[in-house]
Amino acid sequence: IKISKSYKLASRDFHPEDTVIEIKGVQIGGENLVIMGGPCAVESPEQIDEIARLVKAAGGQVLRGGAFKPRTGPYSFQGVGVEGLVMMKEAGDKHGLLTITEVMAPEYVDVCAEYADILQVGTRNMQNFDLLRKLGTIQTPVLLKRGFSATYDELLNAAEYILAGGNPNVMLCERGIRTFETYTRNTLDLTAIPVLQGLSHLPVISDPSHGTGRRELVATMSKASVAAGANGLIVEMHTDPDNSMTGDGVQSLFPHQFAELLQDLEKLAPLM
Ligand code: PEP
Ligand code: MN
Repeated sequence: IKISKSYKLASRDFHPEDTVIEIKGVQIGGENLVIMGGPCAVESPEQIDEIARLVKAAGGQVLRGGAFKPRTGPYSFQGVGVEGLVMMKEAGDKHGLLTITEVMAPEYVDVCAEYADILQVGTRNMQNFDLLRKLGTIQTPVLLKRGFSATYDELLNAAEYILAGGNPNVMLCERGIRTFETYTRNTLDLTAIPVLQGLSHLPVISDPSHGTGRRELVATMSKASVAAGANGLIVEMHTDPDNSMTGDGVQSLFPHQFAELLQDLEKLAPLM
C-alpha cells in the first residue's frame, strides 16, 4: 500500500484498526449500522418533537436537523438559528436520541457543541479550513461531508485538519457529487464507501437523500450503501414534506417509508 504524502492521521496505514466513535452508548464505526434521521431543517418545537418520536419508534439512534442552513440563495430560509439548537436538544433528550446539526462558521462551533452530540460540516464547507481548525480544538464528534466536487484525497485532507488539531472523532460522509447527470440532484458515489474505508480507518456514513434528491430513490440507495459497507446512513424524513421550509421535502421520506426502510435494513445489518 502506498502511503499518501498529503495526509497521515486519517490514513489506514497510520492507524490500521477501524475507528469506533462512542457517544452515550451508541457506537459509530463498529459492527452495527447507525441511522440518523430527521428533517432537513428544524422548524418548530412541535415539528422536531414529533419527528424525533418517529425516528426513535422506527429504531433510529440519531436525530438530524439543521438550525443553520447553508442555502444556495440569500433570500431562501436560512434556518431558525440557536433557538433550533434548543428545540432539537429537548426533542433528542425527551426521546432518547443523539443529535446532529450543521455548523457553518468557527464562531458557532462552541454553541452548536453545547447543544448537539455530533457536528455536521456541510458539503459547501468541506474546505472551510478555519472551521475545520476550530473543530480540531474540541472533542465533539464531527460528520464531515464530502464537497460536491471534492476528490477522496481532498476529503481525507479535510479530515486531517480536524484530526491534526487534536479531535480524533471524525466520520466521513458521502452525500453525492456533481456530475453531468441532471435527473438526480447529485450522483451518489457508492464507490466512495469501500475506497474511503480502504484508505482510512474513519467511519463512513452515506446520505442517500442529498445523494439523489428524490424520495423514490432513497430506500434503494440506502440499501445499496449498506451493501457497499457504509457504517451508517443520514436520511431526511418529514411529517409534511410538501410544506417543509427548505426545498428538501422532495427528497424527504414520509414517516411510514422511514420505518419500512429501517425494517428492511435490519435484515442487512444490526441496527444497535
Ligand atoms: C443537509 O444535510 O441538510 C445539507 C445541507 O447537506 P449537504 O451539505 O450535503 O448539502
Ligand atoms: Mn437537506
